[in-house]
Amino acid sequence: MFERFSVFISGANIEVTGQAFPLGELTADILSIRPKEFQQLQAAADELVKLIDEDNIPTRAVSIVDQEKRNERFRLRERNRPAAAALIKELHSLLLTRRLFQLVAISEKRLQAILQTLTYPSLAKRYLTIVDDIYAFNQTMFWFIDQGLMRLDKLDAAHYAAALHAFYHAPGIDKMMVNFFCFPGRTFNWFDTYEIKFFPREMPGEPGRFAIYEEYAVKDLQAFLKIDFMRALAVGHAIRRCHYCKGFFLLTKGYQTLYCTRPIPENPKFTCRTWREAGKVKESAAGTAERRLCNAAVNRINADKSRGQITAAEADWARFYARELRDQAMADPAEAKTLEARLKPQALYGALEIMKRSEQKNQS
Ligand SMILES: [Zn+2]
Repeated sequence: MFERFSVFISGANIEVTGQAFPLGELTADILSIRPKEFQQLQAAADELVKLIDEDNIPTRAVSIVDQEKRNERFRLRERNRPAAAALIKELHSLLLTRRLFQLVAISEKRLQAILQTLTYPSLAKRYLTIVDDIYAFNQTMFWFIDQGLMRLDKLDAAHYAAALHAFYHAPGIDKMMVNFFCFPGRTFNWFDTYEIKFFPREMPGEPGRFAIYEEYAVKDLQAFLKIDFMRALAVGHAIRRCHYCKGFFLLTKGYQTLYCTRPIPENPKFTCRTWREAGKVKESAAGTAERRLCNAAVNRINADKSRGQITAAEADWARFYARELRDQAMADPAEAKTLEARLKPQALYGALEIMKRSEQKNQS
């Protein structure tokens, strides 16, 4: 998808390939990848893993003297190449729906050239890492935005930093932060790798006056998302989730708003915000059944918490998940059919690996 690219931060903007964006905007776009879209990425990535694992005989086992094993490996690789190439192209075009990738993606010509060679597995791994990074970053930050940024009374850099501190130290953080133990290969990294260059440049709007600037080169998507999002928080930008379309959007000024300014599919002349202002967002009529089911599930969760059957952190996690299921069901009739079953305590707690205290006693 991309090999390595540089970013440059100046004030409240980030420059990627010479184009400036408000800090956080490109990240909000990646966060807005819908579960349905991610499932497509995931399905292609799973198929690709199967193909490249097949010819993945460890290099040390394939010494120069062991010509036969070498040949076998190349035969497998050659056989799998057309199928792998098709999957890589599919991942490439799915990712190109995002602004960041439109800026930094390798050209079609270069992609085609690499796919002609037998070194395609290393290219395949780059795409797989991107899919893993999207998962690790988005899942973790969904929590931070929902539990932290969306609940603040004051919107400024100091409160965003305090919310991040509270999130990193929350009792249920090991469940919220994607880590190796729940998802092998997928981790929200504590440390990311950057290469950095310092260089002097004229200050914007002040000809003849120079300052020393920093340019960062990133190889991994997660490294980019962290620098874009964390620096965004530091300059007082926040990412919020729209109550109407459920997409993420960037807020550069400190006022409370629950609605974004994207055009709405049913009437593109309106945005979620103007649609709401026009009084068109009917909270009651649409999704009544889904809301009722979700409310009942939330009441059960609260009751389990007050009876000491589950911890406060587990209850937070379960309520969040129940609301996610409700939102998915409201957006998709196929999901709505299974909502009731998925909100039943056994299914809901089972999906989150939460076990009630009474069940823990029975097991021991
Ligand atoms: Zn919206």
